[in-house]
Amino acid sequence: MSKERRSIYKVGDRVESLGWTLRETPIKDVGIDAIVEERDEDGDETGMFIALQVKCGESYYEKLRTGEISFRDDRGRHPEYWFGCSLPVILVLVSGDFKSIWWQEITPDTVPDKPKTKWTTKIPPCQELDASAMPRWREIARASKELEGYVKLLEAKLSAYEAEVSEFRDEFACPVCGAWRRSTYEFDEEDSSGRVHDVYRRVFSCGMIEDNNSIAQPCPRDPSFPLFEDFDIKMRSLGGRLFGFLSPRLGLSSTLRRYIKPEEGNNPQEIRAKLLQGYIRVATEGYPSP
Ligand SMILES: [Zn+2]
Repeated sequence: MSKERRSIYKVGDRVESLGWTLRETPIKDVGIDAIVEERDEDGDETGMFIALQVKCGESYYEKLRTGEISFRDDRGRHPEYWFGCSLPVILVLVSGDFKSIWWQEITPDTVPDKPKTKWTTKIPPCQELDASAMPRWREIARASKELEGYVKLLEAKLSAYEAEVSEFRDEFACPVCGAWRRSTYEFDEEDSSGRVHDVYRRVFSCGMIEDNNSIAQPCPRDPSFPLFEDFDIKMRSLGGRLFGFLSPRLGLSSTLRRYIKPEEGNNPQEIRAKLLQGYIRVATEGYPSP
């Protein structure tokens, strides 16, 4: 039997005696020699796994006293493969006489990032594979599951917040441009048949007005917002002075007209220019406060 197989069996015996299950992997050209699975107190497998890379060598025992092991990796592929592995990886070292087994977690802290053919990892001599290692092994095996659970929790929280933000926007922001609600008030309004209705009005800072959730005055960013050209300009002479005002055509909102005040001028062109300025002010800055 080869030294490699003997060392894997040796590790398997040890792992079994510690209450875990070891399964050899059939392909070992890179990286992983076996998968271990945690078992609970009843001996049932828990579905928590760690991948093992098993190495055996005469030289390890001596070098362990210095706390450092240099690891020869001719193709330099191991760390890249381990870090890309979907399971956590542990490096297990077996002494040449098969009596001692040590282990080290493979992380960017213990293995150099981009090793060449030879690299070093620190394995403290105290890190023997015995019962004292098992609490850490459990943590390692569960770490990715716990992270997964934590990410799921964060995602659930995030979507709850998103729902809250969207509810908040529905209540407090203009649905067209997102401008915040400026004020709300209630009043009575008489319709054409003389009936009185309660009106709940919401005024947004862009100028949009909603009465009982229907648009009384569109947002200036709304495609249905009336164009200046949609209004007729009416001129009136009063006491020798010329006034002009906007008159909405049929089907156009009449509220807008209230905010664009009539203008006085020397001639219709001057009045038209002043009315246009008033329109632009309302359309770009929002309506003046009521
Ligand atoms: Zn708006």
